[in-house]
Amino acid sequence: MPQKFQNFINGKWVDAKSGKTFENRNPANWDEVIGIFPKSGKEDVDEAVKAARFAFEKWRLVPAPKRGDIMRAIGDIMVARKEELAREMTREMGKVLAETRGDVQEGIDTAYYASSEGRRLFGRTVPSELPNKFAMAIRVPIGVGGIITPWNFPMAIPTWKIFPAVLSGNTVVFKPATDTPKTATTLVEIMMEAGIPEGVVNIVHGGGNEVGNAITSHPDIDLISFTGSTAVGKQISRDASDTLKRVSLELGGKNAQIVMDDADLDLALDGVLWGAFGTTGQRCTATSRLILHEKIYDKFMSTLVDRTKKLRLGDGLLPATEVGPCVNESQRKTVQSYVEIGQKEGARLVAGGSIARGNGLSKGWFHEPTIFADVTPEMRVAKEEIFGPVLSVIRTKSLEESIAVLNNTVYGLSSSVYTRDVNKAFVAIRDIKAGITYINVPTIGAEAHLPFGGVKQTGNGHREGGWTVYDFFTEWKAVYVDYSGKLQRAQIDNY
Ligand code: NAD
Repeated sequence: MPQKFQNFINGKWVDAKSGKTFENRNPANWDEVIGIFPKSGKEDVDEAVKAARFAFEKWRLVPAPKRGDIMRAIGDIMVARKEELAREMTREMGKVLAETRGDVQEGIDTAYYASSEGRRLFGRTVPSELPNKFAMAIRVPIGVGGIITPWNFPMAIPTWKIFPAVLSGNTVVFKPATDTPKTATTLVEIMMEAGIPEGVVNIVHGGGNEVGNAITSHPDIDLISFTGSTAVGKQISRDASDTLKRVSLELGGKNAQIVMDDADLDLALDGVLWGAFGTTGQRCTATSRLILHEKIYDKFMSTLVDRTKKLRLGDGLLPATEVGPCVNESQRKTVQSYVEIGQKEGARLVAGGSIARGNGLSKGWFHEPTIFADVTPEMRVAKEEIFGPVLSVIRTKSLEESIAVLNNTVYGLSSSVYTRDVNKAFVAIRDIKAGITYINVPTIGAEAHLPFGGVKQTGNGHREGGWTVYDFFTEWKAVYVDYSGKLQRAQIDNY
């Protein structure tokens, strides 16, 4: 019998009030049920929000360094359980083990960063314009946060949000993706074990239209931190506007790697294979377009196609596997539909293009790593997010043209340029419209202590990661202390 899991509300594991459930299966072997999870609704969210609101009044008064001590304990537990967490994640969503280990490590890094932030959370002191008066700005927690996350980084993304939220003194209601409820549940167990008090972190499982929507429109939730698709992000923005919530949106991408004719081509090749087919292309920062200088186009393409055809697909738990499955049937159907769209648009299919069959692949959502050559910038496969193992290759004549092509999308998350010319690198850094630019590095590989996020329709201007995420989870309060013993009127008595 598959194991049954519950919501965690006010320090207790509970079923959905409706008693309904959903199951979660291994995408590399759909016969394997990972677990049964509560299919919750608005009434469960109401309970969780009530608990979080009550807990907030105590939690906000716990000194931030003490909250940081709990973050350190969370990080320590994750270190001790890293391998087990990685294996569980691979079974649940398919990424190869090296990558799920990286996903857990990102959570560990975020926990230790949050722990140290407990002894910073810097405010500012500034001089007052009046004598015998003190002025400062301090950070204060905001209240109850709704945390809504996708499945592709089931540990890292929730930690990017929950750790800084909680370290800052907020409490949260967390709704993970229905494809990765197990990893999310384990994360909550770890937080409890480390000493997070009841009500501070609550998890409510279930679908976006039921649980997600109940969170985004809840009158007693103050802020929403969301990562997911641009379409859902726009809907959330609308739903949250009635109650004027603070909303952070981390959305889709259509990232490109430029390779100039002066680049180290071996390095660029390793980069694009990793960027395009790592995580089966299911990263918001995945390399979805390759922009190749015409002078190296043919040579680069022949080796790229050759190496791509040799990539080994399979269960991510097996050491030889380089590319895992798509996360579910619907994601693989999307990939198939874009393969058709590309062909209809006149792009040349030079690798992959089909559902992957063969030994050990018949019960998983596998799709061959796929490359389209001779793509033009206006084709849909050059502009729309596919979120699967599909790479569109575009030929250009100059750096300026390459940057224009790279910028020709509604998204602006990650970007990469391979060149050995420092002047070209700096022009690219200046002119590329994206939240992240890598030089001689693929489009994937963000580090936890730097700002993470994108421009244009990749988000709404906030950044996760590092010190920047604390701006989202805290409110500035200006404080004036007048010790002159008399009424001093700013702007009036001193001028
Ligand atoms: P998704 O938008 O379908 O779902 C994300 C989450 O939102 C899930 O938990 C889902 O249940 C919930 N949801 C769905 N409808 C909702 C609604 N109406 N109200 C509230 N919540 C709702 O995305 P996904 O398929 O899980 O993830 C893939 C997408 O996430 C891609 O577009 C990818 O680019 C993006 N992503 C972005 C980043 C980033 O940092 N920019 C990182 C990872 C993934």
